Amino acid sequence: MEIPIPDMHELSIAQNILDIACDAVSQTERGNVREIRMRIGPYAGIVADSLEFGFSILAAGSEMPEATLAIEVTPIVLACDSCGGSSPVEYGIFACPLCGDRTIRIVSGNELQIVDIQLLTFRQ
Ligand SMILES: [Zn+2]
Repeated sequence: MEIPIPDMHELSIAQNILDIACDAVSQTERGNVREIRMRIGPYAGIVADSLEFGFSILAAGSEMPEATLAIEVTPIVLACDSCGGSSPVEYGIFACPLCGDRTIRIVSGNELQIVDIQLLTFRQ
């Protein structure tokens, strides 16, 4: 059986996410962490599958063994300094779809954010 090796870049980001979640949740609650919701843009330079895989390996040996990642991929939106418009575009487009100018800024599509951390709650 071949054991896949996670990419080092995604592995180090997975470790950061785990560290941030660990800091955000009290020690007694860490075992109850079930899902860490994230927003990741296509331009964040992250391979989502690789991040999820790396995270699952690291989480298994951590204080949050049940934690998984739920990744929402954000849309790419460009803002144009020339015409003032902003437009959703496909990956790889670097010109304003409205006027064709290339003086554009990415206003959405490069995020790497933790949205929230879901805990299992007990009720009696
Ligand atoms: Zn424009």
